[in-house]
Amino acid sequence: MTNAVIMRDDSTQNGQRIRIWDGPWVPNFSSYRVVYPRTLSPQVSMVSHLIDYDNNCWNVDLLIRIFLPFEAENICGLPLSNRFPDDKLIWAETSNGVFSIRSAYKVVMELDKDANNASVSDGANMRMFWRKLWKMQVPQKIRHFAWRAACDILPTKANLRLRHVLMDNVCEECGATAETFIHLLWECQRARETWASFKNFRILVPTHFRSFMDFLWFVLMEADWSSEDSAMAVSLVWTLRTHRNEVRHGGMRKNGKQVFLRCQHNMEEY
Ligand SMILES: [Zn+2]
Repeated sequence: MTNAVIMRDDSTQNGQRIRIWDGPWVPNFSSYRVVYPRTLSPQVSMVSHLIDYDNNCWNVDLLIRIFLPFEAENICGLPLSNRFPDDKLIWAETSNGVFSIRSAYKVVMELDKDANNASVSDGANMRMFWRKLWKMQVPQKIRHFAWRAACDILPTKANLRLRHVLMDNVCEECGATAETFIHLLWECQRARETWASFKNFRILVPTHFRSFMDFLWFVLMEADWSSEDSAMAVSLVWTLRTHRNEVRHGGMRKNGKQVFLRCQHNMEEY
């Protein structure tokens, strides 16, 4: 089941007749539908509302705001046509888009196979992960931040260098290496000075995290911490990043303990 029911390959649709929440339009999801959350204004109800027609691309900021990361990522990957002709329903399982019994039988067999497959439980774990992220006891802005960070779409210096926006990608905190997100939040010596005050610091130290997604997966799915401790860890990441932005814009640099206390104070107020 790899193709979409409607937006497929060199897709040539405009999304004006497809409803965001009910229509089958996203490939790689077993139902072809987005699932969660549905907190949109009535003005954003059709797929066409998600498209930036001036620039012939998806409105990425909007996608990030309203969909779960794996959904936003999938939608961003859907090709759009320059011509935006009308939508049409096609049968995704044959190359010519025409329904056949034989192809339908194949789909049923594949679904049966999938039911006994480990990938199903991987999918269930993934859903549980995003659900936990969504329910974290942190302010909404931090939840959104964690979601974007898990997709690695926050503008770190390493990301900006890759897009030729910046010439250098060196971490301004330590000057030692490239500023990836995982470096900034965990590997950097200055970040460690902040983490040292966190009560579960010793549990984190021996673990190698390749990305923020790795880090967040550990915190939410593997560490078996209380919800307060998980929330504190994610808030610390947010505070580290906020502090880095403030310093970059001329704010005063705080030491590790001060950054930690600020985070703790914010969490107590929440
Ligand atoms: Zn650094």
